Amino acid sequence: MTERIVVGAALIEGGRVLAARRSAPAELAGRWELPGGKVEPGETPDAALVRELREELGVDAEVGERVPGQWALRPPYVLWVWTARLLPGSAEPKPLQDHDELRWLSLRELWDVRWLEQDVAAVREVAVRLGPG
Ligand code: C5P
Repeated sequence: MTERIVVGAALIEGGRVLAARRSAPAELAGRWELPGGKVEPGETPDAALVRELREELGVDAEVGERVPGQWALRPPYVLWVWTARLLPGSAEPKPLQDHDELRWLSLRELWDVRWLEQDVAAVREVAVRLGPG
């Protein structure tokens, strides 16, 4: 089976990373994730990330560096994560799809939310990219 990439964004602003609480599907609802989604056929991961952030959060974002690692999801999906930042003039993120709450978390607050298990290792990598806050 060919792997399908799910892209996740560590959207970072002022030493905080954006966490999004899933509202659906039922088995994921209430858990927090790095926003993102599936790369469509023929789409680059970068383009997918920008598209997903626009659809889910209503923002204009720019993709930064790849967070090293890849994390297995339900086959055939695998999670890849990039840092990202809001472009100047972007709207503030709002939960438009799939989420019902957003939080900007400093390093100190990073583990205050219950992340999806498959996101935990990625969030640990993101932690080293946040300032001491
Ligand atoms: O958002 P979307 O439904 O397109 O995401 C596809 C799948 O990727 C979901 O089943 C979700 O469980 C998973 N996912 C994840 N961690 C993320 C983003 C998505 O496990 N940060």
